[in-house]
Amino acid sequence: SRKWRVKPTVLDLGDGVSIGGSSLAICAGPCSIESEAQMEKVMDHLVANGVRLMRGGVFKPRSSPYAFRGLGLEGLRDFHRMARARGLKIVTEVMQVSQVEEMHDFVDVFQVGARNTQNFNLLDALGGVDKPVLLKRGISGSIEELLSSAEYVFSGGNEKLILCERGIRTFETASRNTLDLNAVPILKAKSHLPVIVDPSHGIGIREYVPTMALAGVMAGADGIVYETHETPETAASDGAQTLDFDESARLIRNLRRVYQLR
Ligand code: PEP
Ligand code: MN
Repeated sequence: SRKWRVKPTVLDLGDGVSIGGSSLAICAGPCSIESEAQMEKVMDHLVANGVRLMRGGVFKPRSSPYAFRGLGLEGLRDFHRMARARGLKIVTEVMQVSQVEEMHDFVDVFQVGARNTQNFNLLDALGGVDKPVLLKRGISGSIEELLSSAEYVFSGGNEKLILCERGIRTFETASRNTLDLNAVPILKAKSHLPVIVDPSHGIGIREYVPTMALAGVMAGADGIVYETHETPETAASDGAQTLDFDESARLIRNLRRVYQLR
């Protein structure tokens, strides 16, 4: 809470990469890690555009059990090796307590997905690690519930937290979720933690992702996390909300421009 700590938290990931404070954190990458060839393409794109944070799931929470569920630990080891060789930091989702230890040495930021925001055992386990946790807002979770979930990790001793607005479920069916940009200034006022926006899951429609990303920055976000892939139409998951590299490069330029206007 801001009542307890007024100064905004800045998370230093090392090698000149940080989240929060007086810079905009840009984190991009595929929904799912698919192959070394896929990662190489994405990494080349990120490095060429000066992006140092790469997202990508190896454990995927899928609505259908028959959908692609990720490459698992083996994929994470490849992800880590390739990212390290290129100076990139890794953000990837942890789904259960037993994975925390297995994944620990290959991760820079643990992501807790919207389906696990109130997995209190997982939050307790992450309270005991020394790595940042990117905590997504639950699909039907309130702002207060997100903050309470953050408190679980915090009270366990891990104060390295990032709050993420990724859209909530409402009556609206025109978009995948309803990106609640109201949450950004409210979270910033209530908490000293960095707040980031995920416009990909937030709206779910590729052509509108850049607009909502830029709106997130103007709403006061400390960073943006979004999905990109060389060929979104062949992506193993979330292709419909994934930017190709041209769209992604344009967005990166515009994010930096808009951030300057703040
Ligand atoms: C993701 O980041 O690919 C993801 C599954 O996100 P969320 O938990 O917000 O649905
Ligand atoms: Mn996704």
